[in-house]
Amino acid sequence: EDPFARGTPEPDPIPGVEDVVLVASGKGGVGKSTVAANLACALARRGRRVGIVDADIYGPSVARMMGTGQGLDLDEQGRVIPAHSHAVWSVSVANALPPEAAVVWKGPLVAQAVMQMFREVAWPDLEILLVDLPPGTGDVQLTILEQVPVTGAVIVSTPQRLAAVDAERGIAMFHDLDIPVFGVVENMDAYVCPCCGERQRLFAEGGVELLARRRHVRYLGGIPLDPGAQELADSGRPLVVAAPESEAAKAFDRVAEAV
Ligand code: ADP
Repeated sequence: EDPFARGTPEPDPIPGVEDVVLVASGKGGVGKSTVAANLACALARRGRRVGIVDADIYGPSVARMMGTGQGLDLDEQGRVIPAHSHAVWSVSVANALPPEAAVVWKGPLVAQAVMQMFREVAWPDLEILLVDLPPGTGDVQLTILEQVPVTGAVIVSTPQRLAAVDAERGIAMFHDLDIPVFGVVENMDAYVCPCCGERQRLFAEGGVELLARRRHVRYLGGIPLDPGAQELADSGRPLVVAAPESEAAKAFDRVAEAV
C-alpha cells in the first residue's frame, strides 16, 4: 500500500477508526441505507466494533432505521456523542437538523456538515466505520474521498438494468480515484415465498453478477425482498436484529462475512 499512489497526500485518519467503508449506489431507492444498517448490525453481531455515518444528506434514514432519537448530545469538548443502538454507533445529519433543512443546503455548507460527522464526533474505538452515501457520484462523495482516508467501498444495486448501469458508473468513479471496491450487493434480487420457501427471481438474472465480473469486483451476494423490511425499518429495528432467521437477514449476514 503506497500512500502516494493517489498523487495527493493521504488525509488524516479519523481518531479511533481503523477502516472507513463507503456504502454506495448509482440510484436512490435501491436499498443502500437498508444494506448499510443491516450490514452494520450483522458485523456487530459478529463481534466487530462498528459505526455508521449517515452522509445521505438529501434523504437521511439511518437514524430512523437504527431507532436512535432526535437529539444530539455533546461532550465537554463540544464533540457529538454518537447514538448507540443494536450495538452500533451512529451519527446522522437527521439528528442535527429538521427534515426540511437539507434540501436547501448549498455546496460548501454540505461539505462542512459532512466533515463534521467524521471529525467532530467522539467516536469510540471502531474497527469499521460504514458511510451511507447519497446516491450517485456528486459533491458529498468527492468531499469524503478527498478528506477522509477511505479503505474501500461496497456498491448496492437492484437487478434492473438501469440500476446496474448506474452502479457501474459508481464503480468506475471509485476505480478512477484508486479506491478499492470490495464488491457489489444485489438487493431485492428475489422473493422468497413465506409459505413454501420457494425462491422467485423478480427480474432477469445475472446482470449484477455480470457487471461485477466486467469490473473485476466481487459479487457479494443477493438479498431477497422481504415484505417485513419496511415496517421494521420504520420501527427502528433492522431485519438482522428483529428477524435474524429470515432469508434476508441470513443473506445480510453472508455479506457481512464476505466484507
Ligand atoms: P436507498 O438508501 O438506496 O435510497 P432504502 O434503503 O431507503 O434505499 O430503501 C428504499 C425502500 O426499499 C425502503 O422503503 C426500504 O424499506 C425498502 N427495501 C430496501 N431493501 C429491501 C428488501 N431487501 N426487502 C424489502 N424492502 C426493502
